[in-house]
Amino acid sequence: MTSTDNADCLFCKIVAGDIPADVVASSDTAIAFRDIAPKAPVHVLVVPKEHYPDVPAFAASDPEGLAAVIGLADGVASDLGDGQHRLIFNTGPKAGQTVFHVHAHLLAGGELPGLA
Ligand code: C5P
Repeated sequence: MTSTDNADCLFCKIVAGDIPADVVASSDTAIAFRDIAPKAPVHVLVVPKEHYPDVPAFAASDPEGLAAVIGLADGVASDLGDGQHRLIFNTGPKAGQTVFHVHAHLLAGGELPGLA
């Protein structure tokens, strides 16, 4: 599957440069851009350039691509903060997923609230 397979996908359009975004890093296979509604001092979305609807589909088809997304996120966390960070992949509407192009939320830049 390629990024051109989903013409209505918002993040495919950002990858293609058709919609502006505050890109902070990129690699051959992924880009990282600031979330427009940040929930932490550093809130960056890291997305593969190829279109996959969610992280299980991405992991099943391209585990190396998933590792590359995580590696790019780690680099951004070090570039924009002290390297400590949280990665979240929402999967499905009940989990809060609203954009169905897999993306990691990278949260960093300060004390983050606990999950428990
Ligand atoms: O996990 P979820 O699908 O809800 O995340 C989508 C994220 O994309 C939201 O945090 C939203 O603020 C962000 N977004 C963005 N730029 C857009 C549209 C949505 O950063 N143009």
